[in-house]
Amino acid sequence: MRRLSQTQISTFQACPQRWKLRYIDGRKEPPSPPLTFGSAVHSGLETFYRNRITGPAPLDEVLASFDADLDPVAYDSTESFERARADGHALLESWCGKHAPDFQPALAVELALQYSIGEVPMISILDRVDVGEDGRVSITDYKTGKFFLRDKAQESQQLTLYQIAAEEKLEREVESLSLVHVPSDTEWRVARRSPAEVESVRRLVLEIAQAIENQAFEPRTGRQCDWCHVKPWCPAYADEFPENWPQQLDAAVRSPSEVAELADALGVAVAAKQETEERIRTVQEQLISWFEATGQRAVAGSSFRVQASRTEKTALTCSDDELRALLEPAGLWGEILAPAYHLKTKLLDRPELPMEIRGALDERSEARVSWRLTPRSLPTDDEGNLI
Ligand code: SF4
Repeated sequence: MRRLSQTQISTFQACPQRWKLRYIDGRKEPPSPPLTFGSAVHSGLETFYRNRITGPAPLDEVLASFDADLDPVAYDSTESFERARADGHALLESWCGKHAPDFQPALAVELALQYSIGEVPMISILDRVDVGEDGRVSITDYKTGKFFLRDKAQESQQLTLYQIAAEEKLEREVESLSLVHVPSDTEWRVARRSPAEVESVRRLVLEIAQAIENQAFEPRTGRQCDWCHVKPWCPAYADEFPENWPQQLDAAVRSPSEVAELADALGVAVAAKQETEERIRTVQEQLISWFEATGQRAVAGSSFRVQASRTEKTALTCSDDELRALLEPAGLWGEILAPAYHLKTKLLDRPELPMEIRGALDERSEARVSWRLTPRSLPTDDEGNLI
């Protein structure tokens, strides 16, 4: 089985075809300014901390590591490269000036751990690992992008993988997980992941590994395609890059003009279908308001009879985060997580729910009405007359 990393997992989640083009077909993405800059800052921080017990490395060594890793190929002009270099130096000078006085030796930096989830071999590189007096470890991941979301530390599956990796390979319990935004020198520290959170990420990895085994690489088109570097080889954009898709001449393949006609035919048919669907929606709304007003549940036209049924259900309106805040203290959140995620919809039916949680859920729920209208043609005789 192929070894997976967090980058591969998130690439596959974003688009399985992109993963295939990168990791199977070897369509490398060119170095981008943010990735190159981030990698060079990581090198500088690694030098600052690696193998240092009594104090950090001097600033000139830190900057030399940064310079060695800042790849000019990623930049479209000498000016933009020099600007990035100056930004990196300013950032690292500021970091070193601030953190040299409170320097703490790390247990490890840039630590590559190979481990496994089920049968799937994995690799994670941990930016920094610290050990506390009780022997438990804290893991830090450095971020260098311009923007950073507060809740990322809570949601990051990368940090969950780090916890799994550290506990398997270092045989130490993880105490906390941190994201540090280096440009603003801001840390978000969260507690170790719960068993349910770990299980959810483990399951995700197993599902992706299985999809890779099954060669399930469907393109997932969307806005991300606008900046996808493997787009020229993506089957979803084959028409825009015909040079990469030479026509095959076997008999099963239609001529380009036939396929063009089919494309137009499909466009016309889909437009007609949308028009029909819109008409269905309008007529349904009018019939439903008549059924609501009269209380009747059937009506006949000259050729069709429509029967109606009305269902009323109570549904939760709160977000998953709100629901979690309510259920987790009562130990109920784990049950609601995948694989029985649909249980959320049945939560209100559960008689064993504590009263205070039921009350809170009632406040966050509303009645939802749905209608089903079933038209059936009226019976006719052999000559088509209504019976
Ligand atoms: S162009 Fe879009 S669909 Fe194709 S590989 Fe890239 S992200 Fe996926």
